Amino acid sequence: MSTSVETFAELGLSESLLKTLTEIGYETPSPIQAECIPILLDGHDILGMAQTGTGKTAAFALPLMETIDIKLNKPQALILTPTRELAIQVAEALQSYAKNLPGFHVLPIYGGQSYTIQLKQLARGTHVIVGTPGRVMDHLERKTLNLDSLKTLVLDEADEMLRMGFIDDVEWILEHTPEQHQTALFSATMPEQIRRVAQKYLVEPREVKIKAATATVAAIRQVYWQVSGLHKLDALTRILEVEDDFDAAIIFVRTKTATVELADKLNARGYAAAALNGDLNQQMRERVIEQLKSGALDIVIATDVAARGIDVPRISHVVNYDIPYDTEAYVHRIGRTGRAGRTGNAILFVAPREIRMLRTIERATRQPIAPLTLPSRADVTNKRVADFKEKVAEVLNAEGLDFFANIVSQIAEEQNVSAEEVAAALAMMAQEGKPLQIAGEDPPPPRAFDKGDRRPASFGDRERKPRFERDGERGERPRFEDRGERPRREDRPPRPAPAGDMVRYRIDVGREHGVEVRDIVGAIANEAGIESRFIGRIGLYEESSTVELPAGMPKEAANALKRTRIRGVPINLRPDEGRPGGGFGGERKFDGERRFGGGERKFDGDRGGFKKKKFDR
Ligand code: AMP
Repeated sequence: MSTSVETFAELGLSESLLKTLTEIGYETPSPIQAECIPILLDGHDILGMAQTGTGKTAAFALPLMETIDIKLNKPQALILTPTRELAIQVAEALQSYAKNLPGFHVLPIYGGQSYTIQLKQLARGTHVIVGTPGRVMDHLERKTLNLDSLKTLVLDEADEMLRMGFIDDVEWILEHTPEQHQTALFSATMPEQIRRVAQKYLVEPREVKIKAATATVAAIRQVYWQVSGLHKLDALTRILEVEDDFDAAIIFVRTKTATVELADKLNARGYAAAALNGDLNQQMRERVIEQLKSGALDIVIATDVAARGIDVPRISHVVNYDIPYDTEAYVHRIGRTGRAGRTGNAILFVAPREIRMLRTIERATRQPIAPLTLPSRADVTNKRVADFKEKVAEVLNAEGLDFFANIVSQIAEEQNVSAEEVAAALAMMAQEGKPLQIAGEDPPPPRAFDKGDRRPASFGDRERKPRFERDGERGERPRFEDRGERPRREDRPPRPAPAGDMVRYRIDVGREHGVEVRDIVGAIANEAGIESRFIGRIGLYEESSTVELPAGMPKEAANALKRTRIRGVPINLRPDEGRPGGGFGGERKFDGERRFGGGERKFDGDRGGFKKKKFDR
């Protein structure tokens, strides 16, 4: 590990927060936490280069929570994030750290959410605001948000905010906050414009950067699975089951709680698994390692600290179930396999948001990490059947089969069936508890990570879009269809906006499910019987998406869409809280012409673009 700090207590956090961290299972600070927390507790500004997955949220959240005066019912900290998803995630993290701080309130505010609700919540009072720049700016302009008592301002994922065109809003907010406050700016990359903002608004900031250790890990096969469409646990068991040279595995997770939970789940699925975490005393720890060595256990689920120094030659696989905080931790983890001259396998689970860490690891280890195709149901079934046949073949060679052969003949005679049928019934019985065929559907193959994710933030889209072109939600500008490996917007005809009233809906599929705009258009066109030209703007987010459809959707179409799945995931279509126009202005008409410069297509007002025929059947 890149830090010698072993405990949160060494960092100077209060008893109450330390208690919470123990309760939620954080064992040891991540490197970014070890570096940032003391600096922030000392009151310095920070310029931190860190990406998602490094533990940066707790790095800024814990110190700022120490400064909150619960009795003062006013915003004392403001955290700006580029997206609604991140705002919610950060607010949830703060809420979980506030377990032992009765009366603590954190409020996420973002575009797309109804103003009425937000105004009510703001009026009620809160200690911390986590918001997207556009919406925070709106509230400041309208004086519905007062930052007079602000002590801490955090800019999270600053380069993303720049890339999404929010930097002017961010600067506006920085200009309109009281001078006396601590500022922390985190960014995965440090482009010139972010440096400029830091120079202008941060006071003698301490710079914190996670070291990228380089190391060679030649004897280890490294692959990653892009988390999508299937629960990590299901993916894990599928992978472990079909890996050819599987002998024993060590699985890395982040928290003590997760070691225990995963061990329980794997035990329930028939694996000999145990947790290894900092709660175990030395004797218990040694016992687990001995059991792994002897074969009494095949899988150990560990945190980084607990797994230090493990040297068990039969570990054929290391699974990074949760991505490590930094490359050093990665190299350390995968070094648990490929020992004593054997080849090892390292499998990394990567959520779409963690793609940057994957690339950083590849750079640090100077080796590409290949994508892993998730074994299909058929692959798993074939493997199980092959194993079963092998077992049967072994028994066929055993002594004393006559007694059983006789029973089979008796059953065949009594039931008036063939011996083959009896054998089939016995095979069925033999698979009880672990069926040869696995249930459920195969998830669709994940899409390759977008180029947009792979490259460091680029500033080609730095120019601020005119207001009317930006989404009504502003702070929540979705990733529209021009991102990634698809042609850029300027190379393609824009999605023409239908004229007429549109209603915006939300659906529960997003980029993390590997969904693209065309999947949404295709599914809606097919299921609701609506021509694709009548489908309005689509906003693709991480976990969900929005789609604008003509007002007056027939009930049958709505019902059909409720049941629709995209890439195997139920979409649960429902009206979105916000309106296409957004803002305070109430019902605003969707202005196709202004936004798309076209608007020639005429929309069939009577039928709302829905083909009746489909539902007349
Ligand atoms: P972040 O990089 O802030 O998005 O954090 C990524 C994940 O790591 C979150 O799920 C956190 O709950 C988890 N995490 C952060 N710090 C720690 C820690 N010290 N120990 C265990 N898990 C942590």
